[in-house]
Amino acid sequence: RGRRPVSAATRRCCRALGLLLALLPALAHAEWYRREEAIMGTRIYVELWADAAPAGESAVAAVIQSMHDVDEMMSTYKPASQLSRVNDRAAQEPVKVDRELFEVIRNALEFSRLTHGAFDVTYASVGYLYDFRAHQRPTEAQIEKALPGINWRNVRLDPVALTVKFDHAGMRIDLGGIAKGYAVDRAIGLLQARGIAHAVVTAGGDSRIIGDRFGRPWIVGIRHPDDPKRVITRIPLVDTAMSTSGDYERYFDENGVRYHHIIDPKTGHSASKVRSATILAPTAMQTDGLSKTAFVLGAEEALKIIEAIPGVDAIFVTPQGKVLYTKGLQPGD
Ligand code: ADP
Ligand code: MG
Repeated sequence: RGRRPVSAATRRCCRALGLLLALLPALAHAEWYRREEAIMGTRIYVELWADAAPAGESAVAAVIQSMHDVDEMMSTYKPASQLSRVNDRAAQEPVKVDRELFEVIRNALEFSRLTHGAFDVTYASVGYLYDFRAHQRPTEAQIEKALPGINWRNVRLDPVALTVKFDHAGMRIDLGGIAKGYAVDRAIGLLQARGIAHAVVTAGGDSRIIGDRFGRPWIVGIRHPDDPKRVITRIPLVDTAMSTSGDYERYFDENGVRYHHIIDPKTGHSASKVRSATILAPTAMQTDGLSKTAFVLGAEEALKIIEAIPGVDAIFVTPQGKVLYTKGLQPGD
């Protein structure tokens, strides 16, 4: 008896089955997908739960790409970035920017108002004279000369034309204190749009978490200012953003004085009223924008400001090593 011919339909069916079998391992790959990269001059980390490898890997790639996009637009290290254009031209004429950059600057000015000027992106008018990696700092004379450039009230925004204008010569903006928070929120938004329900995204000191780790919170430790291995306190987190700023992040010591990357806008010197500040809030732009306050104003005044904002909490480590919490975090609550 001759072999029965295999019909075209059967062949198609078998091919489809083969394809399905080939896909099965991928489909069954519900797991955590992670990546760490150096972008925006800092460590970017993403960890997310996805049902399948293609979805998980493409979500991770989208987060990394988004970080690069924000960097391209808002870096002061890139001469071609929109922000560099603003710094070059805005003292002469209104500079048109993308809505995204406009919104970040608008939010930055809002944090200046909330923090009584402790947060001020025009700190860079003096801040650019520091190079913490090269252990360089400006002289008193240089600071005095550049200091009038620091004043957030001299940033003029036109919400219709989407332009930025400086009312004073010698002004510069640096978004190093808010753009990472923004970038984290942007990445989380992308993940939510893809239906990702469990993830953490970190950019330097700024993180945001969606969901939990299957019934358990994510546990985040706050390190000791002088010992990276010692943990001062651990907090369980679900669906929140968190930023920690510390005087141990970017600094150098000279003759017993610590020069570090958070600048008091009034003096142009490093702001040292606390050693570290951790803020918890719904978005990472909020936590980033508020994490500098206590360095400039001191823990007491910063606590007052933060207690008055609904949904925001804080943990400060003072120069004496005391740990202060907002009411919402105090044990027993
Ligand atoms: P990270 O870069 O690790 O997120 P922070 O959130 O503590 O660190 O932000 C520190 C950065 O904030 C500095 O490197 C600088 O770019 C910027 N900055 C410093 N002082 C001020 C200030 N008074 N107001 C706003 N931004 C500031
Ligand atoms: Mg930050």
